[in-house]
Amino acid sequence: MKNPENNSLKSHILVVEDEEDIVRLITFHLEKEGYRVTGTGNGREALELAHANPPDLVVLDIMLPEMDGLEVCRRLRSSKETANVPILVLSAKKEELDKVLGLELGADDYMVKPFSVRELVARVRAIFRRFDREDNAETEEAKKNGMEERILSLSDIILYHERHQVMVNGELRILTHKEFLLLELLMENVGKVLTRDLLLDKIWGYEVGVDTRTVDVHIRYLRQKIETDPASPRYIETVRGVGYKFVKD
Ligand code: CA
Repeated sequence: MKNPENNSLKSHILVVEDEEDIVRLITFHLEKEGYRVTGTGNGREALELAHANPPDLVVLDIMLPEMDGLEVCRRLRSSKETANVPILVLSAKKEELDKVLGLELGADDYMVKPFSVRELVARVRAIFRRFDREDNAETEEAKKNGMEERILSLSDIILYHERHQVMVNGELRILTHKEFLLLELLMENVGKVLTRDLLLDKIWGYEVGVDTRTVDVHIRYLRQKIETDPASPRYIETVRGVGYKFVKD
């Protein structure tokens, strides 16, 4: 039974894929799970839809007409309204994923085609669970603090936990979700070396297809966003063969 009034309560998923059979299949299974699904086969249209009405999650194919998925991903991440929307990337080319391009661009998870729809639904659920958990933790935290925002301020960097925002020298820097979590963990443990394995475990946890190289890639991107000279980083130091630490000057 469809109840349109309930629609606003359902999580909204934007499926961007030009193969109609796949869109139909994904839509059918996600709707069965209670999600509200919008489909489009065009990258440019996907961006317009996402900006007009930011979805709760995006399932994004890489090979698309007009604008490919990598560009769509990059633009979603660099726009304020959609910077934190979780993205699950689909790709027929394994090499693309080997380069973890999706992850470098801030995707939250990826799947190689052909994939099982059952697994896709499981991954979508896992992403929502993770985000819900974080939201709840933040609300609880905010309550405990009498709604005062928790702020971490070290050197020239200010990190706002609840707002998921980072300012460097008074300037807002748009980080992906994973980059934010990395920086948060490093700043909370200022001066301590965090191993790659620990970072991988704390931030990626259950995810498959990631290894310590994923950590390095994210650190590289994070440095590009917060360091004045990413080649000789001032905030995030590499401890060769071990991991990374945040240094306070
Ligand atoms: Ca395609």
